[in-house]
Parts: sequence; C-alpha cells; structure tokens
Amino acid sequence: MRAEIITIGDELCRGEIVNTNASWLAAALWDQQVTVTHMHSCLDIAEDMAQLVREAADRSDLVLLSGGLGPTSDDLTVDMLADLVGAEPVVHEPSAENMRTRFAAAGIALVPNSERQVRAPAGARVYENSTGLAPGFEVSHGDASVIALPGPPRELKAIFADHLVERISELRLARGEKLEHVARRIFRVFGKGESQVATALEGLALGDGASLHYQVKFPETLVKIVVRRDAQEAANAELSKIDADVRERLGWLVYGTDDDSMAKALVRELERLGHTIATAESCTGGMISALLTDVSGVSKSFPGGAVTYSNEEKMRQLGVSEETLKAHGAVSEEVVREMADGVRERMGADWGVAVSGIAGPGGGTKEKPVGTVWIGVAGPSGIRKTKMYCWPWTRERVRALAAHWALNLVRQQLGKL
Ligand code: ATP
Repeated sequence: MRAEIITIGDELCRGEIVNTNASWLAAALWDQQVTVTHMHSCLDIAEDMAQLVREAADRSDLVLLSGGLGPTSDDLTVDMLADLVGAEPVVHEPSAENMRTRFAAAGIALVPNSERQVRAPAGARVYENSTGLAPGFEVSHGDASVIALPGPPRELKAIFADHLVERISELRLARGEKLEHVARRIFRVFGKGESQVATALEGLALGDGASLHYQVKFPETLVKIVVRRDAQEAANAELSKIDADVRERLGWLVYGTDDDSMAKALVRELERLGHTIATAESCTGGMISALLTDVSGVSKSFPGGAVTYSNEEKMRQLGVSEETLKAHGAVSEEVVREMADGVRERMGADWGVAVSGIAGPGGGTKEKPVGTVWIGVAGPSGIRKTKMYCWPWTRERVRALAAHWALNLVRQQLGKL
C-alpha cells in the first residue's frame, strides 16, 4: 500500500511550528507496512489543498491529511473535501453531543461557529475524537481512501490508535495484501559511537524477514530490530534469538530497550538495591538532577543535589578544601573526588556523583582544553571512581555528554555490586 501525507496550516509553511505530525504519521504508517511516497505541506488555501489531495489520490492508495478541522473560517478541510467528493458538510451528531457535554462541564457557551468543528462530508466514515472535539473522517476519491485528522498532535495520535490501526489493516486486506506479524525492539546503546556499534554487530544473524536499522539520537545510538513473520510466535521467537546475540555483542553498552532512558535504567538499579544518589554539579548546572527527576517516583532514590559553579560554593556546600582547589584547579580529579564525597556525606546518600568541566567555548587552557570534563563517583564500601574526558564538541554537547556519562559511570559501578 502506498500512502501520502498532507499537513495543512499557515503556521507550518511559515516555520512557526515543527511538523511533528508528518514524521509521526510516517513512522506509524511504516510500522503498518505502508510506504509513504510523498509528504506535502500547504497553506490554508482551499484550492491548493484540493489540488494536493487530487494529485495524491491519483498516485496513491491512501491519503492522510492533518489540520484545518477547527471552528474558525481558516479551517477549510471539511468543506474542501466535501466539495471534492460532491457531498454536503453535515454535523456529526455524536461529536456534537460530545462537544456540548465538554463545553457544559467547562462552563463554556456554544457560539454559532462551534458546530463547524464537528462536521464531516455527508456519507463519510467518521472517526470519533476521544481527546478533543473535531472528529476525523474518511472519504473516497477515485480508488484512494482520503482520511482527514485534526492538527493537534495529541488528537491525531488518539484517533490513529483508536481507529486507524485497524482500518489500515482492513484496507490492506481488501487489497489482497498479506498481513505479517511483527515483533520489534529498540536497543538503547550508550558509550560508543554509531560506527563502533555497527562494527560490533557486523554479521549478526538476522534471518529472513528481519531487519536492523541504526539511528543516532545524541548522545546515544538506537539499534532497531524488526522481525516480520506469518505468525506472532515465530516473530517473537526470532526476536528473542537476535536479542540474546545483540546483548552478547554489546554487553553493558545496552542500558535498556524501547522508551527507556539512562536515568530510568540507573534508578531501576538503585531501587533494586535500595540505594540513593546525590549529585554535585558544576558545568552541567543541574542537568544530572533534571535527568533523574524526569523519572517518576525517583524521590525514593534521589534526595537532591547541589549546583556549585563557583569555588566558594564547592567549598561551602560540599566541603571541598581550598588547598585542593588551589593546587589542582576546579576541573581536576582531586576536586571531583571531594565533590562526590562531600555531596554523598552531606546528603546522607549511598552514592555521590560529581562533574566539573570546561564546556566552552571559552575558558580552555593548553593543559585543560575546552571539552575537558572530570567525573567523580563515590559509593558504599569505599567505592571511588574518577574519569576524565575531553570532547571536542560544542558547549551543548559537552554538557549533555557529561550528564549522561555521570549517570552511566554510576550505573557501571552499581553493576559491579
Ligand atoms: P483546531 O481545532 O485546534 O483548530 P485543527 O484540526 O484545525 O484543530 P490546526 O488548526 O491546523 O488543526 O492546528 C491546531 C494546532 O495543532 C496548531 O496550532 C499546532 O499547535 C498543532 N499542529 C497542527 N498541525 C501540526 C503539525 N503538522 N505538526 C505538529 N503540530 C501541529
């Protein structure tokens, strides 16, 4: 099945919003073995929209539109498609009822325009919107199915999940396509670059119907495995075999799968052992604690952290000694060791992790060039780990790498317990 995506809206063409709907829809269609051949965006101009739909419907089996289903006069998708298929726009009563209920609950009065957003061309197959007001709908143009969805990403995704996954399978079956069963896994890999990861996975036995893709999602690399088989059990079994092989080859570099994060992986380990961690940050300015507090329920494992940018604060909040700072400088092994010890002790945590570095672009010296970062870890039973990195990247990248490496170093130490 071949599909095209048309995203509608002035803000898209003016660059005011990022077109996440197009990429999200393309990925969702790809997951359903539908190939997207073209992606278009246009202004809220009915003739332009209609021309794109006609061209796409002539070439492809499925045309997905997003946007222009709202109540205002620049929302033209319903009228444009109604006109294209020679039907009247009519109010979809269940959606109108949903709107009345929501408005009443929020104390909002209906205005004459309100009904515009709960319409669809007469005879269209309507897809109710469980998270908003405007329903999606499907009409036919020639041999193609043309499906309109609301622009707000949350609503578009909900309608896709509630109705279109099943509908697209139905359309594919009607075209005589064989529906394969799919098993997929994303391995989240941190600590080596894409080419090193690819080298480690060279010659991985994938078997028929299995494929491997790499995606760099800085600062990590995603390894995506997709297995397609006639039966789900066969796809799952093949994926388990590949999973074992990937883990064997990549070892500790794989910190998790699918929508995992480095912080989640670390917090899981901390919870398993009933341990806590405290952070002492200089050049990362709170990024490590931000990553940790992204994880819900982290309060059991994370009492807090200190952002100590100046030498005075390193001494005052963490007890780093003046002599150490004078003798070695703030970006040094000795200082991060004292920072990690200090925060661990003062916050009564099992683990302390500290970062001090020169993120740039200024501030580098011959001995300590821009990108030099020291990370220190202090743990139970006298565990001490310090490591220096030197990344020749931008300030943004150096800071992100430092924050992720700090978490990863603790994860490594925890793994040894
Ligand atoms: P509404 O009822 O809000 O008017 P609509 O179906 O008419 O919905 P639009 O007006 O086109 O949709 O978009 C509503 C909002 O959804 C936009 O302001 C924007 O924030 C978001 N949006 C629209 N299109 C996209 C897109 N392609 N990618 C990401 N966000 C989008």
